Amino acid sequence: MKKGALAPNLKLSLPPDDEVSLSKFLSESGTFKDGDLLVNKNGVRIVSQSEVEAPILIQPSDNQLSLADFDAGQVIGKGNGGIVRLVQHKWTGQFFALKVIQMNIEESARKHIAQELKINQSSQCPYIVVCYQSFYDNGAISIILEYMDGGSLADFLNKVNIIPEPYLAAVCKQVLKGLWYLHHEKHIIHRDLKPSNLLINHRGEVKITDFGVSAILASTSGLANTFVGTYNYMSPERIIGGNYGYKSDIWSLGLVLLECATGEFAYTSPQPGGWVNVYELMETIVDQPAPRPPSDQFSPEFCSFISACVQKDPKDRLSANELLTHPFVTKYDDFDADLALYFTSSGPPLATL
Ligand code: ATP
Ligand code: MG
Repeated sequence: MKKGALAPNLKLSLPPDDEVSLSKFLSESGTFKDGDLLVNKNGVRIVSQSEVEAPILIQPSDNQLSLADFDAGQVIGKGNGGIVRLVQHKWTGQFFALKVIQMNIEESARKHIAQELKINQSSQCPYIVVCYQSFYDNGAISIILEYMDGGSLADFLNKVNIIPEPYLAAVCKQVLKGLWYLHHEKHIIHRDLKPSNLLINHRGEVKITDFGVSAILASTSGLANTFVGTYNYMSPERIIGGNYGYKSDIWSLGLVLLECATGEFAYTSPQPGGWVNVYELMETIVDQPAPRPPSDQFSPEFCSFISACVQKDPKDRLSANELLTHPFVTKYDDFDADLALYFTSSGPPLATL
């Protein structure tokens, strides 16, 4: 794609001479701030006037940061809602992931989306993928995200097939910390926890992404039917349309971990080739007993952990906080799993910067 081809109508408000070099911008602390704009070695970020640390949503009318300030790179992923592209910030050279979701929506829906994305952007947690900024432009939502060079846990599982318990415990611990943050600090339910929404990098970090986004998309009329994949990890109480809360994410976590451990989605379809009828799958989740790992292949701690997550009654499930002290999570503390090495040495190399 041509440089600057993404959104030529948005302009960054730079100091008068926009040829000035980045080094000139940086103060001794390594951070430059001009009005709303904050630049440091980690990149560029828009901050609100009142809360210097918290990024805010920029509406196109704010006319401050442009998608044209990023060079577009290769497409690194495709989801139901749109594409994810590697982009590089022209000033700093830093890489980001740009997620573009095409949707033609009305003004009211757009306001709602802006609100949701604001929550997304105010999250500051090492276990949550940073959402730097979002734009709505010409029928598409573009979200600038922290680039996770290992891709998703779904991508990784495709390479390794299964994740052995000691590594899985280390992955699980990070996801639980992210969930703890979302549930207890931000008071939000993720709603779409699944392997493709857990991203990894060469530092061995695991981060949760896409919270809120799925809710927006699913609630936007005409799009709901597109998001069939989402039902796989949906808790029984959500499927039946009842009230649901944080524990709904814990159910999804249980299914994700089970899939990582066994290499297969927890609910096997009666016919070969997978689930063709989503209602059949939903019925199975609601009516059948919760899945369990084969106890002869996994540790009692792992089996107990999964059972604590996939209780059909949400009241019987443990919270993220409680699960953090579960014996499965603490059992491998001494093993000190090197996820950085594990992620980078398994299969083909990760996309590098
Ligand atoms: P669905 O649309 O059903 O939710 P999905 O989660 O796979 O599926 P996207 O969220 O659009 O869809 O992501 C598509 C893929 O892009 C991911 O599986 C992952 O491989 C890649 N990806 C997404 N975000 C990032 C990121 N921040 N850094 C690196 N890769 C990413
Ligand atoms: Mg996703």
